[in-house]
Amino acid sequence: MLFTNATVFTGAGPDSRASAFRVEDGVITWVGDAADAADEAAIDLGGRTVLPGLLDLHTHPALMAEAADAADCLPPRVTSLAGLIEVLRAHGAERPDDAWIVGRGYDDSRFPEGRAPTAADLDEVSADRPVLVWRCDGHSAACNTRALEIAGIDRETPDPEGARFERDADGHPTGVLTELAAVAAVADCRPEPDHGELVRRVVGLDEHYLSHGIVGVCDLLSSVIREPLAVFRDAAVAGFRPRVALYPGWDPEALPETLDDDARTGRIRIAGVKILMDGAFSNRTAWVREPYPDSDGCGIQMISDESALAAGEWARRNGVQLAVHAMGDQALERVIELFGDQEPWLDDVPSIRLEHVTLVPDELLSRIVGGRMRFGIATHTVFLFAEYEAYKLNLPDVSDGRAYPLRALADTPLPLALSSDRPATAWSDADDVFLSVQAAVDRRAADGTDVGAPSAITVDEALTLYTSRAARLAPVGTPATIAAGAAADFVVLDADVLTVPADEIARVRVAETWLAGEKVWAAAR
Ligand SMILES: [Zn+2]
Repeated sequence: MLFTNATVFTGAGPDSRASAFRVEDGVITWVGDAADAADEAAIDLGGRTVLPGLLDLHTHPALMAEAADAADCLPPRVTSLAGLIEVLRAHGAERPDDAWIVGRGYDDSRFPEGRAPTAADLDEVSADRPVLVWRCDGHSAACNTRALEIAGIDRETPDPEGARFERDADGHPTGVLTELAAVAAVADCRPEPDHGELVRRVVGLDEHYLSHGIVGVCDLLSSVIREPLAVFRDAAVAGFRPRVALYPGWDPEALPETLDDDARTGRIRIAGVKILMDGAFSNRTAWVREPYPDSDGCGIQMISDESALAAGEWARRNGVQLAVHAMGDQALERVIELFGDQEPWLDDVPSIRLEHVTLVPDELLSRIVGGRMRFGIATHTVFLFAEYEAYKLNLPDVSDGRAYPLRALADTPLPLALSSDRPATAWSDADDVFLSVQAAVDRRAADGTDVGAPSAITVDEALTLYTSRAARLAPVGTPATIAAGAAADFVVLDADVLTVPADEIARVRVAETWLAGEKVWAAAR
């Protein structure tokens, strides 16, 4: 079958174009100029733009499935306390009368009311049903009076270690739950979805991904659900089509001593293990060399050197990747000190993936590129787009381009991907690839602020970070190119992302998604 009259971005590199390609038995067998294949019956793509199937290599489908019964409370859908109450009320009305009303993603730093929700606010959603809603950072939440009662939290309850039940002047809990252990004290009282329900929810994500043109994902904390490999494999049997590489969190008690070959291969596989070297900029836990503004704090090292090395040994022994969350420059330096001189253990992909890489001065980047270890990087532009306000407070020189320095990263030979971190990004549709590409090209935040023009890259370069160059970062089983020998996985767009003005890139939509030469999704006309 010949596809013709298209602008094909092949992914072979920036500026590589074709206008026609042939597919046989689900595989691309020829790519070239439409004029060289004029006499055949063909599918006329009407001049539209074609990209290889897109990859989102740092995201959280397991968490999306776990949270599928939660209302979307992220900006721009929810931008006020009043709006939050309204969305939760409407969500509760659609669910069984006795079900918890759960939401995710409010960002109170943008609320005109100037404060976070409390139990008194959420009692307006429902007085007799439990209500729980996560903040966009995922580290804190708020619940109503009924939820506090079910969890048995009152004036006498001590704070959990490392966390707080916020209290009023009389010591009564206000419903604000700060840090993970306080959130878990309430969240763990919800009935857990069983295996079958989780499988159904993953299958429910199929349309989401295909409508976004995403044909492969990496889950960078698959252990948020039980038996993620079995859940995703059962979901694939039941109709979930994207490729999935899973990275459970490092937990020597929960992980098997050795992974069998079957677990490490196939469309759905365990590709590595994840550790967190530091935290995040929004709550000043990213581990940095220079103290935060008006503070002597430099963030925190979240894992000991010994545990980090043990996770690396497990990855080496099992022939999978080590994924290291490292945002601050001090965190990255520690990763280099611990692993930079080690012998790499994988051939086809980097042995160590660095996640986020927010602050990476040139001298550290040279050590990442030039050391013995083979590193790759998954980074983002959607963070700055969605969370600029928080970055500005904690990283005052953010507009000089030092945060997420894409220009410098793209100029290295490293495997490199842009990714969404959905749903841990304060934006409803964080895995809209074209939003992220626009943010990489014009380096503007959601409110239009310049967030570092010197670090901009071109549209072509950004697209390779969702296709061919990204494919070198992780074992997702596809080269993400339109080239002879590759699986015929591609997307057809409704506008030419390669030529529209930079500030219109985010409006480009996927019109069709094709997998192995079959049209698997098309936008309603
Ligand atoms: Zn993440």
